[in-house]
Amino acid sequence: MRYEGKLYRPPSEARSYILQATIGCSHNLCTYCDMYRDRTFRERELAAVLEDVAEAGRVMPGTERVFVADGDALIMDVPRWLTSGSLRAPARAGLPARVADPL
Ligand code: SF4
Repeated sequence: MRYEGKLYRPPSEARSYILQATIGCSHNLCTYCDMYRDRTFRERELAAVLEDVAEAGRVMPGTERVFVADGDALIMDVPRWLTSGSLRAPARAGLPARVADPL
């Protein structure tokens, strides 16, 4: 698993594979949060994200959930996710995929 920067794992995701699709937070202004202050927000190269998914399917076949990070990964364009097949990629790699509003 490749991950740039300090990894923050929510307690509810203790057993999840953390997939870094974006780096940092697109907002990065909440006064109570300094998790991503040291990073400039950007999307990771899709090829690298899909490589991580494929690797997770090989080395962590028992994984039951994938948590997509970083701070605001769902800001990514839905067409990018859908046309690239990246929402289906975890299933192809033997990992479950689910999109849910975290709030
Ligand atoms: S990660 Fe969440 S809490 Fe932290 S700055 Fe970004 S939006 Fe705010």
